[in-house]
Amino acid sequence: MKAPETYGVDYWFSELSVGRHLSLAEAREMNSSLSLYELMDVASRLTSRQVGDVISYAISYNINYSNYCEASCPICAFYVPIKIKGKTDRGYELSVRDVSVEAGRAKEAGATEIHIVGGFNPDLSLEYYESIFSEVKRIVPGVTLKALTIPEIDFIARVTGNSIREVVNRFVAAGMDAHTGGGAEIFNPEVRKQITTPEKISGEKWLEDAEILHSMGVPGNSTMTYGHVEKLDDIMDHMVRIRDSQVRVPGFLSFIPLKFSPENTPLLKMGKVSGPSPADKDLRVFALARLIMGGAIRNISVYWVSLGKGISQVALNGGGSDLVGTAFSEKIFGATNRNEETTTEELDHMIREIGRVPAVRDTLYNVIRYP
Ligand code: SF4
Repeated sequence: MKAPETYGVDYWFSELSVGRHLSLAEAREMNSSLSLYELMDVASRLTSRQVGDVISYAISYNINYSNYCEASCPICAFYVPIKIKGKTDRGYELSVRDVSVEAGRAKEAGATEIHIVGGFNPDLSLEYYESIFSEVKRIVPGVTLKALTIPEIDFIARVTGNSIREVVNRFVAAGMDAHTGGGAEIFNPEVRKQITTPEKISGEKWLEDAEILHSMGVPGNSTMTYGHVEKLDDIMDHMVRIRDSQVRVPGFLSFIPLKFSPENTPLLKMGKVSGPSPADKDLRVFALARLIMGGAIRNISVYWVSLGKGISQVALNGGGSDLVGTAFSEKIFGATNRNEETTTEELDHMIREIGRVPAVRDTLYNVIRYP
């Protein structure tokens, strides 16, 4: 057994490069024994070994079908309470015709992926979701449809009196190819109860539902919303739990750390946060994601909308291997005044500028072309 002071960069790289999965105690040990620069160095070398030089992204178009929600998560600036439906002009539900128009715009934009999420809206039926999914596939044949967060699927199952399996079987028949992986937030229940409300499922249920979808052959991303009231230990615990789920029942296509954007959120108004997380924490999160999860989930995705473009480039040199997508028509982060936009040319430029190779991919992380 080596003395702790010998647990340097080379020790951790040699352990991780043979595919060892760190326990939470080992992750803590690694985090405390390496500086940020050293963590990023190991993460960068591991990324080269696990993924190579390519940085991928999808040409993605977002459709947010409704912002009415039965939950009222303090981290969310997007929702309008369902109980004030009819008494406000801030809420909306897209009709199938509206979705058809959005799908037409996605087609014009050359989308390889359509991403559909919304609030917990008890007024929408299973048939509504089936209709919007099949409409998207009718308008944009060949596109991959990444639809709904795991808590949304669980909510729809509960309000319609169906099992997760029954709901997912019907949605897949209507055109759903993958789940989005959203709504994981932070699994630690003490943190989770400060940032969500009881309508949103627990971390344990999120993982249980994900494993049901994966066992049915429906893959999806995994996420974590960080940078609010959590501690670094909660972040590492979240990563270890997702990685262990992937080892039990594979199905996660990527891990996407989502930096919390506080503007217009109840959490900011309650004074529980004072602003976004600092860049050194962001970079530590991406490096830890590569080191803790990369052996089981090779795609560690950097969502430039939540992180910002400049710091995203740095994160791509410290563990990241994917830029998520173009996120055309994004509204969830837009509700926090992060009205970030991009083009495929800009993403290609961001990737080439750091000496890496851009690739357009589909939802399943198959490369479609090298621009
Ligand atoms: S995060 Fe999702 S579940 Fe929570 S209030 Fe917002 S839309 Fe509703």
